[in-house]
Amino acid sequence: MADIDTDRLGSCPKCGGAFESVRVGPYTVDRCSMCGGLWLDERELERVLAMDHRALKKKRADTDPGASKSGKMGKCPRCGGTLIKLANLRANVTTDSCSVCYGIFLDADELDAFDHPNLAGRIGQLLRKLIGRH
Ligand SMILES: [Zn+2]
Ligand SMILES: [Zn+2]
Repeated sequence: MADIDTDRLGSCPKCGGAFESVRVGPYTVDRCSMCGGLWLDERELERVLAMDHRALKKKRADTDPGASKSGKMGKCPRCGGTLIKLANLRANVTTDSCSVCYGIFLDADELDAFDHPNLAGRIGQLLRKLIGRH
């Protein structure tokens, strides 16, 4: 459980595309090369909270969110667990979260929903709620 391999992710749960590592500032995140969705491991959450959201938006400028409209989610790319929908009305976003390893998939549209001046605070709140920490 504790030693989840971080080397490779499976295919994107949304579109089946391949994840690629994208550097955002000092950090590396896993982004789908096709739909622009992000996969966050539980332990990556804290890092993402400190990220400059604008950098993420910029990084996904060359992706095609329109390719991700099927609406059907696959399995967790990390552990193969079931992804469940978690709605957060306050943040006005629904995320897909793994019920096994607590990874979170954020699709490109959801990133757009985070376009807010206080994004760091907002996404922090959201993610902390998602993983039940305060
Ligand atoms: Zn994808
Ligand atoms: Zn998982």
